[in-house]
Amino acid sequence: MKRIPEYFGCMVFNDAVMQARLSAEDYTTLKRTMEHGKSLNLSVANTVAAAMKDWAIENGATHFTHWFQPMTGITAEKHDSFIMPENGGKVIMEFSGKELIKGETDASSFPSGGLRATFEARGYTAWDATSYAFIKDGVLCIPTAFCSYGGESLDKKTPLLRSMEAINRQALRVLKLFGGDDVTSVKTTVGPEQEYFLIDKELFKQRKDLTYTGRTLFGAKPPKGQETEGHYYGVIKPRVQAFMKDLDEELWRLGVPAKTEHNEAAPSQHELAPVFETTNIAADHNQLTMEIMQKTAKKHGFVCLLHEKPFDGVNGSGKHNNWSLSTSTGVNLLNPGETPSQNAQFLLFLCSVIKAVDDYQDLLRISVASAGNDHRLGANEAPPAVVSMFLGDELTDILAALEKDEAYGAKEKELMRVGVHTLPKFPKDTTDRNRTSPFAFTGNKFEFRMLGSSASISEANTVLNTAVAEVLRQFADELENASDFERALHDLIKRVIIEHKRIIFNGNGYDDKWLEEANRRGLLNLKTTPDALARYLDKKNVDLFTTHKVYTEKEMQSRHEIFLENYCKLNGIEAATMVDMARKDILPAVSAYAHELCATITAKKQVCEQVDISYEQGTMQKISALSAAVYENVEKLDALLKSTKSIACAVECATHYKDEVLPTMRALRAAADELEGLVSSKYWPFPTYGDLLFNV
Ligand code: ADP
Ligand code: MG
Repeated sequence: MKRIPEYFGCMVFNDAVMQARLSAEDYTTLKRTMEHGKSLNLSVANTVAAAMKDWAIENGATHFTHWFQPMTGITAEKHDSFIMPENGGKVIMEFSGKELIKGETDASSFPSGGLRATFEARGYTAWDATSYAFIKDGVLCIPTAFCSYGGESLDKKTPLLRSMEAINRQALRVLKLFGGDDVTSVKTTVGPEQEYFLIDKELFKQRKDLTYTGRTLFGAKPPKGQETEGHYYGVIKPRVQAFMKDLDEELWRLGVPAKTEHNEAAPSQHELAPVFETTNIAADHNQLTMEIMQKTAKKHGFVCLLHEKPFDGVNGSGKHNNWSLSTSTGVNLLNPGETPSQNAQFLLFLCSVIKAVDDYQDLLRISVASAGNDHRLGANEAPPAVVSMFLGDELTDILAALEKDEAYGAKEKELMRVGVHTLPKFPKDTTDRNRTSPFAFTGNKFEFRMLGSSASISEANTVLNTAVAEVLRQFADELENASDFERALHDLIKRVIIEHKRIIFNGNGYDDKWLEEANRRGLLNLKTTPDALARYLDKKNVDLFTTHKVYTEKEMQSRHEIFLENYCKLNGIEAATMVDMARKDILPAVSAYAHELCATITAKKQVCEQVDISYEQGTMQKISALSAAVYENVEKLDALLKSTKSIACAVECATHYKDEVLPTMRALRAAADELEGLVSSKYWPFPTYGDLLFNV
């Protein structure tokens, strides 16, 4: 058995491989491309491609693919083999620099939100040299960006890369003001904690809802749910342990730094946390993690559910996006420093995040909006739909002292002045960790907790990076022109605290009183995806993204369309699945059971006319009434689904789903779930929550 350091990253064309296989000159050129986004000339590209191909073939690869992240939210690949026919019916193995750098692909089968109508169906993929190529299932995968022929981005990677450039530009300006001339770049870092469920594959196959939609659309609560909290951090079962071991090894081979594996709050729910990396790498690695999780689960007789809310009444799954800023000199800009000047710099970056989150609450909410996540946010298990920030009591007190020019702390009786006083040390792992906050400061990073488990992290980080870049731009503009830097800095920080402290909330985010309070503070409560998306194209948001060249207005319009389409599609599939299950499985099963009850009544009566038939009769009446309710709602749902076909406008269609289809789905489910509690288990047509959640 090989030791981990020996096989970690063995399937990755990483720095060590590049150094070993390229000439010093080519290696330097490639590094420059990777670090500074310089373009690679064709002759070097040819050399790199040849080296990659030789390495890939030695490691069992036969094909290559441009690996990209279209707006479907999952990754896409089209495999090409390396073979090139030669005279005499032979082949050689070829891979050119051109094939490495750019690929043509038919964009028409991927979501384009109207860009397709005005542009050619052709699209192209372009190598993202900042993310290493790797081998997966015998295929050399080249991480790429995906654009329309006209250059509009059609994927999740391109805007993320652009947002990283934006924040780099503005953060460097701010650092200059603090004398940070040695810093050549600032990158955002992310460690995404990934939650998921594992359920038995055989049981999964017996449920159409899980098969078609990844979540249960029916299902009564089992006698035991997650009440006892026995699962959280509990002992991991051997079968799950074997899966996790396999998963870790697979991920390590691909260079994904999987670090922590544990049980989560709900039965059969687990979490994987990697060590943080540069954001675009973290995004690529999170996509890979989700893919490998699903694949590895199958090998162990499981299905891995990544849906945000697979089970009603049981905690859903999210993704915690731990985010910070790191300089090329290795400084974490959200780490409070040791000296007054370092602290002033920390406070300014902290304030930039506070202002960004307050100014762009709507975009942050939109970045996590999906049909699946709508079932989770605000359901007393995940943060509410209101965006707020947790800073902890100590930091909040420090900000309050700064705001009011008051003394802070028991010892120091001096006034707090930015740039003059050292901040008191506050422990990194504050014990009053708040798990209910959507956006929490955790000592040296922020944890954005609203992301859904199945979503790409790119969306949220694109917004976060761009919003903070915009605030840093405003700060730099103001401070660069100040005659007295220290004074201006102090005033700026004070002003930001006064204007944006409404976004700070250290209490219990699950409490209904908070929603009232948030409303008084004027914070947004965008409950559903359509509510949130209605603000996407607001002028301030278009200005933000166009100013920083993250999206063009046209790209935003196309994305708006795609988000709405996705919402409608997902809900449409769920509704159709419910109709199918109710008509073909639930109602026939209930009828059969009713028939058995009636037959029993007749048989009993034959023995004795006065016999007690209260159970059979009572149950029969109840299930008949409930079947009628199921039937009525199925018919209604079916009609509503048919009527969506005539709605051309995406906004109208989404509203129709939200206001008409979803409430009918809930009514249908309520009646069916009640039936499940009454009908003999012998007749119930699919595995129950108890079977699914407690059977691993
Ligand atoms: P927990 O939140 O479970 O107590 P940690 O705080 O150690 O655990 O880390 C949670 C996640 O945050 C991990 O993925 C970790 O790598 C990541 N993380 C730690 N530091 C940073 C940072 N500076 N930038 C981004 N992510 C970070
Ligand atoms: Mg966690």
